[in-house]
Amino acid sequence: MMKRGLKEVIDDAREKGVNKIITIGVDLESCKKNIAIAKRFDNVYTAIGFHPHDSKKMKEEEISLLEEMLTYSKNVAIGEIGLDFYYNHSNPEIQKEAFRKQLDLANKYDLPIIIHDRDAHQDTVKILAEKARGKKVVLHCFSGDIHMAKWCVEEGFYFGIGGVITFKNAHILSKVVQEIPLESILLETDSPYLTPHPFRGKPNEPQYIPLIAEKIAQLKGKTVRDIAQISTENAFQVFGLS
Ligand SMILES: [Zn+2]
Repeated sequence: MMKRGLKEVIDDAREKGVNKIITIGVDLESCKKNIAIAKRFDNVYTAIGFHPHDSKKMKEEEISLLEEMLTYSKNVAIGEIGLDFYYNHSNPEIQKEAFRKQLDLANKYDLPIIIHDRDAHQDTVKILAEKARGKKVVLHCFSGDIHMAKWCVEEGFYFGIGGVITFKNAHILSKVVQEIPLESILLETDSPYLTPHPFRGKPNEPQYIPLIAEKIAQLKGKTVRDIAQISTENAFQVFGLS
C-alpha cells in the first residue's frame, strides 16, 4: 500500500469534521517530529512525553530536552506517560520512576496529563492519587473496569475512547461508556493502531473518529451530533483550545 501523505490525512480528517488534532509523543525523536508537524499545520497540536516503553531512555539530559519541548507554544499536554506491564519494554521500577518524574513536570508547567495504562491499573491509580489529584487527566484508551472508571469520574478525570469501542468483544468498555458521564469523554485514534470497525487492519487515521462517535451515540442513546459537540467541548476544556 502507498504511504499516505500528512496533508492528505489531515485534509480527509477535516472533510469528516475532525478539525483539531493532537499528535502525541513517545520519546524525544517522536516529540521533535511532532513539533515540526504542528509548526507546519495550523490545526495540529502536540503532547510531549516519554511512553512507559521508552522510560529507560529518560536520563538527565533527556529530561532537560523534554522540559524545553514542554514549553513549546502549541504543546497542550504531557503524554503519553504511565505504565505498561503487558510488554515491560522498560523495567517496572524504571517505569514508575519516569511516570512520577513526568507528573512532577506536569505540575511544574501546569499541563494536562495523558495517561497510558496497560495491565497496570493498580499502580496507575496509586501514583495518580499521589501526584495528579485536581489535575486535568485523560486516561487514553481506557482499559480499566467499572470500579476504576468510577474512581476516575470522582476524581474529575477524563476518558479517551478509541476504536476498541467498535470491536465486538468490547463488553467491559461498553459498560464503562454507558456508566460514565458524557462530560468526561474524549475521542481519540491511537493512530496507527486500534483502527475502528469496519476498517480494522488498515492504519488508523483521524478521519475514522466519527465511527467512534457513532458507537458512543448508540450506547448513550444520543445523536452523533451530540457526541461530536460534547466531546469537542470536553477536549477544548481539557487542553485549553477554542
Ligand atoms: Zn498508549
